[in-house]
Amino acid sequence: MKAMVLKKISSVEEMPLELVDLADPIPGPGQTRVKVSACGVCHTELDEIEGRVPPSRFPMILGHEIVGRVESLGPGATKFKQGDRVGIAWINWSCGQCSFCLKGEENLCDTAKWTGKDADGGYAQYTIVSEDFAYPIPEIFTDLQAAPLLCAGVIGYRALRLTGMEDGKALGLYGFGASAHIVIQIAKHKYPNGKVFVFTRPSQEEHRNLAKKLGADWIGATGDTSPEKLNCAIDFTPVGVPVREALRNLEKGGRVVINAIRKTTPIPELDYAEHLWYEKEIKSVANVTRRDAQEFLPLAAEIPIAPEVREFRLEEANEALILLKEGRIRGAGVLNILG
Ligand SMILES: [Zn+2]
Ligand SMILES: [Zn+2]
Repeated sequence: MKAMVLKKISSVEEMPLELVDLADPIPGPGQTRVKVSACGVCHTELDEIEGRVPPSRFPMILGHEIVGRVESLGPGATKFKQGDRVGIAWINWSCGQCSFCLKGEENLCDTAKWTGKDADGGYAQYTIVSEDFAYPIPEIFTDLQAAPLLCAGVIGYRALRLTGMEDGKALGLYGFGASAHIVIQIAKHKYPNGKVFVFTRPSQEEHRNLAKKLGADWIGATGDTSPEKLNCAIDFTPVGVPVREALRNLEKGGRVVINAIRKTTPIPELDYAEHLWYEKEIKSVANVTRRDAQEFLPLAAEIPIAPEVREFRLEEANEALILLKEGRIRGAGVLNILG
C-alpha cells in the first residue's frame, strides 16, 4: 500500500512526510482492516511532527479522522462485515480495566493507544483497528464530509458538552477552524435562543465569512471585549493568549474549556481578581471516548451538519499541513486517499 510516513521529529515546513510503499497490514484478533477513502488533517499532526506530542515509534503513519470500508476481518471479529463503511477516531484502544475505563472515561486511560500516534493511522491506503473502536457512518455524509466529524466534530461535541452551555446563554468561540465551525452548528441546533460570539485573528477573512454564514451572532478579534458577558467559552487556538481573553470576557460562575492537546505559547499570567475570581473555571478537554463518537455521529446526521471541506491528495499531505499551520484552510482539510 501507499502511505505518507513520518520518520523523525521535524518542522512542518521541511515537508517531513515521505511517500512510501508498505506491505498491507494484517488484522489480528478482534481487528478489521479498513480500506481508507478519506482522512482528515488535524492540528494534532502538527504537534506530533514538531515533537510536542511525539509518536511512540518511527516510522509512523499519522492521521486519526479516518473513513473507509471494512475490507477484511481478523479472527473473532464480528461487529462489521466486508464493505461496511466505518469511521476511526483518535482513540484506537483502551485497557477496559482501569478505574477510568470502568467509568467510561477511557480518554483518560494510562495505557490507551491513539490513532496515528501509537497505532498507524489514516495517511495510507489501508489501516487496522479494533472493531470496538470503529463507528458506522450515517448515510447522508460523503466519505470526505464524514472525515472531519471524527476528530474536529467529536472533540468539539465533547468540548461543548463540558462547557455546561444552556439555551438562552452566551457562548464564546476562540479560533474558528475545523472544530469550531462544527461546534457552532451543534450549538445553533441545540440552543436556538443562545448566542454564539466568535473571536478570530483579524486577518482571517475566510474564517470570519464562514462564521457569519453559519449564524455567528457577532464576530470580533481575539483581544476584543464581547458585546455581552460569556456564560461559557471554548478556546480552539494553539496559543496561550486567548485563554486569558476568554476569562476576561467571562460572566461570573462561567467556564472556559480549552480544546487543545498542546499550546505553542504559554498562557499569560492571570490576574486573580480580573480573570478567575467569582467562581470562574478553566477545564481542558483531553481526547475522546467511544461514547462521544457514538452520540455525535447520529446527531451530526440529524442536524444535519455540513462540514466545509478542502480536498487534498495523499501525496499533498505536507502542503495541507503547512496551510493548516498558517491558518489558511477554510473549514477542514481532508486527504482523498482514493483520488
Ligand atoms: Zn484531531
Ligand atoms: Zn484503561
